Amino acid sequence: MIVMKFGGSSVGDGERIRNVAGIVGSFAEREGTPAVVVSAMQGVTDSLILAAEAASKRENGTLHRTIAELYARHEEAAAEVAPESEREALLGEVHALIRDFENLCAAIGVLGELTPRGLDAVASFGERLSARLLAAALRRASYAAHALEASDFIVTDACHGAASPQWEPTRERTRAAVLPLLAEGTIPVITGFIGASPEGVVTTLGRGGSDFSASIVASCLDADEIWIWTDVDGVMTADPRIVPEARTLPEISYAEAAELSYFGARVIHPKTVLPAVERGIPIRIKNTFNPEGPSTVITSSPREDGSTVKAITAIKGLSLVTVEGRGMIGVPGIAARVFSAVAQEGISVLMISQSSSEQNICFAIKSEEADRAIAALNEAFARELAARNVDRIWAEEGVAIVAVVGKGMRRTPGIAAKLFGALGKAGINVISIAQGASEHNISLVVSETQVEEAVRAIHREFDLGRGS
Ligand code: ADP
Ligand code: ASP
Ligand code: MG
Repeated sequence: MIVMKFGGSSVGDGERIRNVAGIVGSFAEREGTPAVVVSAMQGVTDSLILAAEAASKRENGTLHRTIAELYARHEEAAAEVAPESEREALLGEVHALIRDFENLCAAIGVLGELTPRGLDAVASFGERLSARLLAAALRRASYAAHALEASDFIVTDACHGAASPQWEPTRERTRAAVLPLLAEGTIPVITGFIGASPEGVVTTLGRGGSDFSASIVASCLDADEIWIWTDVDGVMTADPRIVPEARTLPEISYAEAAELSYFGARVIHPKTVLPAVERGIPIRIKNTFNPEGPSTVITSSPREDGSTVKAITAIKGLSLVTVEGRGMIGVPGIAARVFSAVAQEGISVLMISQSSSEQNICFAIKSEEADRAIAALNEAFARELAARNVDRIWAEEGVAIVAVVGKGMRRTPGIAAKLFGALGKAGINVISIAQGASEHNISLVVSETQVEEAVRAIHREFDLGRGS
């Protein structure tokens, strides 16, 4: 049994939804009924959040315009995908859902604030709409299909905006909801991205989290494979939007996929890999717009191609925080205090580097968290600052991490030299460096203005586009 997930661009409009129905339907005829997980139509989650934020600030112009656009896009898609006999009913369902959303926005407007819990309720509407549209498109193509809301069976903690599944109830309830449909040959079309707390309050798994939904469902159903359908030919040597000559990687390991996604390769959500590793379920990444084209399979033991560097990724929008002072030399426990101060603020650190002289420790975090991190560190080191043992705590904004990933780097000397040579030649200044303990990864901090050029220069140097 296969779990297939379709991303937002794959279901961007009515015609694309019908294309997806074609892919799913013909697969079902050949190989048996898959379980399908679907994202909101492209851009819809952003629009929902925009509307709710406008409501909370009582910006009625933006609110009404955005809601009108949501009606228009979903009405148009519904008209395109619905079987003739279901047209009125589907339009009615779409209207009822968007009306609920309008009411929610009205309540947010009255309260004048948008809580994380409210934001999850808001963001859930996109997938609730798209799942109904795709199920209808499948029925129009004469396949039995039924839309399911994952909030009825994916049980999560109440960490709104980044919820984690509670495996036991989730497994039991997912099997109860999905297996009977599969047994009778009805294609379940499940909302990605959402779950619900044990009390039944809607949660979301994090932006881009429909990939994670697919691996949760696959794990619960003991699926044979997870197929993630997106808008590119699998996992590539770099983001093809940055490097046009990027090439598809036919096979990579779970560890490599995890590193790539953690360091910004949006093609797969970072949390997707773990449930798949635990049950040994291969993940395939395929292109909805080029279904017969190249694709990637992610497994525990991919065939090795002898390469050192496999892929390059980048994350923008970061700040590099530095704690500096001569008085830190040889004092035990400074690093522990730095990171516990930051952790207490709930801020996650993407990369750490400490110079061997121990005169400074620096780490990268998301820019919007920099002020809070600096305030927490100033408080934690108030005494050392007063005594001048710590001289300065500051953040450099507008930086990016470039991560170079590949299992083969481990046993090959000279990779770092080649890497820095390439950046030097391209005139790119490296602000900081870290090598992951796994040696699957070298990450460097560069200015955001140079990040794309850095990715291209490294891609060229290691000849990753060869054969394309
Ligand atoms: P979906 O809507 O299907 O979930 P996303 O937009 O989340 O799709 O992810 C697909 C995008 O990921 C691609 O369009 C591409 O620009 C980007 N991407 C970033 N890094 C990579 C990479 N190494 N390989 C492939 N795609 C990548
Ligand atoms: N629709 C959600 C988002 O835009 C989840 C997803 O697409 O994976 O973040
Ligand atoms: Mg995605």
